[in-house]
Amino acid sequence: MKYDIAIIGGGIIGGALAYKLSEKYQFEIVVVDKEEEPNQHQTGRNSGIIHSGVYYPENSLKSKNCINGYKQLVQFLEEHNLTYKITGKLIAAANESEFSELDRLFKNAQNVGLGVQYLTKNEICEIDPNLTIPRGFFVEETGLVDYSQVLNRLIDISSDNGVDFIFGTSINDIEENSNKYSLSTNEKSIQAKYIINCAGLQCDRVYELLTGQNSPVRILPFKGEYFEVSPDLYQSDIPVYPVPNPDFPFLGVHLTPMIDGSLKVGPNAVLSFDREGYDGFEVKVADVLDIVSNKAIYKLIKDYKTIVLKEMLKQKSKNFFEKKVKKYWSRFSTSEINGYSCGIRAQATENGELLSDFRIETFDRQVHVLNAPSPAATSCLAIADTIVEKLNGIIK
Ligand SMILES: Cc1cc2nc3c(=O)[nH]c(=O)nc-3n(C[C@H](O)[C@H](O)[C@H](O)COP(=O)(O)OP(=O)(O)OC[C@H]3O[C@@H](n4cnc5c(N)ncnc54)[C@H](O)[C@@H]3O)c2cc1C
Repeated sequence: MKYDIAIIGGGIIGGALAYKLSEKYQFEIVVVDKEEEPNQHQTGRNSGIIHSGVYYPENSLKSKNCINGYKQLVQFLEEHNLTYKITGKLIAAANESEFSELDRLFKNAQNVGLGVQYLTKNEICEIDPNLTIPRGFFVEETGLVDYSQVLNRLIDISSDNGVDFIFGTSINDIEENSNKYSLSTNEKSIQAKYIINCAGLQCDRVYELLTGQNSPVRILPFKGEYFEVSPDLYQSDIPVYPVPNPDFPFLGVHLTPMIDGSLKVGPNAVLSFDREGYDGFEVKVADVLDIVSNKAIYKLIKDYKTIVLKEMLKQKSKNFFEKKVKKYWSRFSTSEINGYSCGIRAQATENGELLSDFRIETFDRQVHVLNAPSPAATSCLAIADTIVEKLNGIIK
């Protein structure tokens, strides 16, 4: 099978890229995914929030792609009649010690052009009387969506445009001759002039397979767990986010109304000893070895011993959730929990640090997406534009 472009990974980034390329260009494109069906990893296991770009430094890739991606995504959802709702969101400071970070986020949001306003205690109580916070601000540009539906639609349109999607197929080896790559899979061989690595949780390993070089980043997998409670406990559909710890690229345990009407609290950030282990306390030897050989883990332990011990190693800790959520929403109680789900974030690290920005690199006739955690689902169409720019730079 001969193609111009092979995309490895059919998550929302690979899907958005296939969509963009097939709408605009005449390339022969194949998307190869190792799973039998789409939505098995991050794209099918997230908070379902359309993010605004409040948190990210102006001019960072996250900021630019999130703000632009928000607009493109909303337009796509409208055009294709997909269910979504713009609700806005509340960022809540639980006490005075969080006020200065809250104010910094407010200024950042203003600088990047978002619609934000501080709310009085009364206005916060009107959202829900159990929101017991002294200070917070409202961000207009936030919504709820099911990213699995978005990916399914991206795949449908791209398929109609002539893109081949091959699920249940892993790339085992690569050879290069006369400006073409030959990819061996568990079934057939695929030839392509250009390859794009959109392999999410496996992107560092796919980088090494495709380039024969050490990956510049290593994935540190952080599980995000959610507990479900009855939607009757909360009278609004506005998500509520705590002020996040600025040292970590995670947004904290939030109150998350879902587009299907359910209500979740989460996600936490727990180290996962299996990059794709969603059922319980799975351990995969290769993944454990990757974690223990990653300098970032030792730096985290050195700098944030308490957080690592109390938060990052504790799976399914209902008490941890109670402590975190009750700081801003008094109605939460562990006795109300009636469901559990989780996803695993592909968080890249480099030189012992957690990478905070998106990372997209080229190598030879390849483009590698090496860090696309949240808000990459929101940003997928803008990230696809960034990948296309990189691809245009290497097309000979
Ligand atoms: C808990 C959690 C909450 C989140 N909440 C939000 C949110 O509210 N809003 C938001 O915008 N973002 C959110 N995100 C982030 C968002 O879900 C991800 O950034 C986005 O889905 C990444 O898409 P992807 O295509 O890169 O990865 P994935 O969806 O993981 O897709 C990667 C694909 O690559 C395939 N693959 C891997 N290795 C190979 C291989 N060797 N060969 C072939 N295929 C391979 C996999 O099977 C998979 O289908 C959240 C993420 C998590 C985990």
